[in-house]
Amino acid sequence: MTSLDDFAREKLDRLEAQGLRRRMIPTDRFSATGARRGGRDLISFCCNDYLSLSHHPEVIEAAREATARYGVGSGGSRLISGNTPLYDALEAGLARWKRTEDCLVFGSGYLTNVGVIPCLVGGGDLILQDELNHSCLFAGGRMSGATVQTFRHNDLDHVRSLLRAHRAAHGTCLIAVDGVFSMDGDMAPIDALAALAREYDAWLLTDDAHGLGVVGGGRGSSFLGKAKSDVPLQMGTLSKAIGAYGGYLCTSQPVADLIRNRGRSFVYSTGLPPGTLAAAIKALEIIERDPEMCERPVNNAARFCAALDLPAPVSPIVPVILGEARRVMEASAALQERGYLVTGIRPPTVPDGTARLRVTFSAAHTEQDIDGLVSAMRDLGLAG
Ligand SMILES: *Cc1c(COP(=O)(O)O)cnc(C)c1O
Repeated sequence: MTSLDDFAREKLDRLEAQGLRRRMIPTDRFSATGARRGGRDLISFCCNDYLSLSHHPEVIEAAREATARYGVGSGGSRLISGNTPLYDALEAGLARWKRTEDCLVFGSGYLTNVGVIPCLVGGGDLILQDELNHSCLFAGGRMSGATVQTFRHNDLDHVRSLLRAHRAAHGTCLIAVDGVFSMDGDMAPIDALAALAREYDAWLLTDDAHGLGVVGGGRGSSFLGKAKSDVPLQMGTLSKAIGAYGGYLCTSQPVADLIRNRGRSFVYSTGLPPGTLAAAIKALEIIERDPEMCERPVNNAARFCAALDLPAPVSPIVPVILGEARRVMEASAALQERGYLVTGIRPPTVPDGTARLRVTFSAAHTEQDIDGLVSAMRDLGLAG
């Protein structure tokens, strides 16, 4: 045994003792909402494929055609040879949909945040982050070398007091929030944050991984009101409602050009597979032509919440907080026995003591699917 293996084993033993060791289970997503695990067919209520576009026949066909035409891999980074013509179509489509001057597609949502943030802030600058932000916003913040201040979830008074205390002593300032919070399903107060950002000359970045395709008529969390919110940096992912893979930043042309030049995860990573780009283009096209489809995930979540006396949801994500990690894992196993896949979410993904079932809804769930899950959760005393 080497010290390296000892090191790893000790860490794993500690996780095991706390009920926090994670294991991957082969999951065969054979249809829009079907998942097979251990030979058993389940209805999944834990995918982020909110519009089930990953299984849409037109999307699959687009990926197949592009793969045959351009090959499986892109062959290089975008600034060398990996910038297939599909990128132009996808970026133009996203910029149009988000009503921004420009758009930049990255390898993933994670790569977007760790690429964008260090281009805009660095040593001597300031970042304010909501405490429930996604891990990759924090990773980008740490990589930037800027001073990071974390504010209490959606607490505007706290944001203002941090700006008052720290803004003047720093150079540039970024306020970063999830548009729709990934593990809680609630939204950031975007217009109020935009107003504070203007007042203190800060730049607002929203991570709309769970907003695109499902809120604001499918355009995302900057489109909840009559007027588009004033958010100069809207990022998101192509791996959730879009059903494919990749990340994007919709922004002004000068900012996009700066990041094309200086964003490390943009410059030094290989372009996405052409089939993936073609899938995303087709998925966006389907979203644009079918606004009714974009309403369905939240409507399905609302049916579930009404039946269980939970607060009305604003997104397709409904947290059922049970507290202890072990209790959540037992609840998840019991639901699986009844034919439902709802995986448990434990620390450090969520704060200590707030382990939960994170129930997500798709446009493809039927009323019967939802009502079945409601009865199972009631029977198990998990809600309602
Ligand atoms: C999933 C997620 C990401 C990461 O996106 P990927 O494309 O999966 O890398 C970033 N931010 C939030 C809020 C997410 O939920």
